[in-house]
Amino acid sequence: LANRLFHPEDTEILVNESKIGKDTMAIIAGTCSIESEEQILILSKQVKEMGASFLRGDVFKPRSLPYRTISEEEVIDILKLAKHNTGLPLVTEVMSARNIEETSQYADVFTIGSRNMQNFELLKEAGKSGKPVILKRGQSSTFQEFLMAAEYIMAEGNNNVILCERGIRTFETSTRSTFDVSSIPALKKMSHLPVIVDPSHASGAWWMVEPLSKAAAAAGADGLMIEVHNDPSNAKCDGEHSIRPETFGTLIKSLKEIAKIN
Ligand code: PEP
Ligand code: MN
Repeated sequence: LANRLFHPEDTEILVNESKIGKDTMAIIAGTCSIESEEQILILSKQVKEMGASFLRGDVFKPRSLPYRTISEEEVIDILKLAKHNTGLPLVTEVMSARNIEETSQYADVFTIGSRNMQNFELLKEAGKSGKPVILKRGQSSTFQEFLMAAEYIMAEGNNNVILCERGIRTFETSTRSTFDVSSIPALKKMSHLPVIVDPSHASGAWWMVEPLSKAAAAAGADGLMIEVHNDPSNAKCDGEHSIRPETFGTLIKSLKEIAKIN
């Protein structure tokens, strides 16, 4: 189902006014963890004005350390409000097949994180939901394994799958992951599905987000998923690779010189 051989045309996925695939780059932006209502309402307005076409915000997080900031109920209310105020579609992670039904009520696009790329029960439920799914590449996954995971979602009748390169595990330790830029042309040759890049988790370093985003745009990526935070040094999670809203604005301006945004 994901194979380019049987579907020569690029797939384009429409979510309200926003789209992913074909000839424009989608920009998905937001914080890693939701810390307060005020923070998210200001930040979501800023990223929208600067060019984001989707808002990212998670209720369920596959954190390397088990901690919580505010309650799941509060996070859901804040995300609903941010979505309502900006009119942007909401992209949110689902970690368990049990989360799908409830999350469907407010999310427009599901993310399946790299650690769950081969959680087959979750893939099947996400497939049944019919909602667009951003499937992140597992940290040690081959292109074949990645595409087979997409097949699980599509086998349930859901063709709205977006592949996300987020870096892979290599012997290098100075970056959090190694951004595999070759995955963009490779996956696009093998599949008709849109391919986006998460330069934030791929590098683990805020100062690399701009060069990696440009590399992704130049290599033909269909979108970017970027972590933005108003005060990265005090962020509860992933501050080291979050960029400030001003930096995000500058990045979008310079990306417009190499790619068509939104
Ligand atoms: C994230 O997007 O916040 C995240 C944890 O990403 P990944 O699943 O790629 O590690
Ligand atoms: Mn994160």
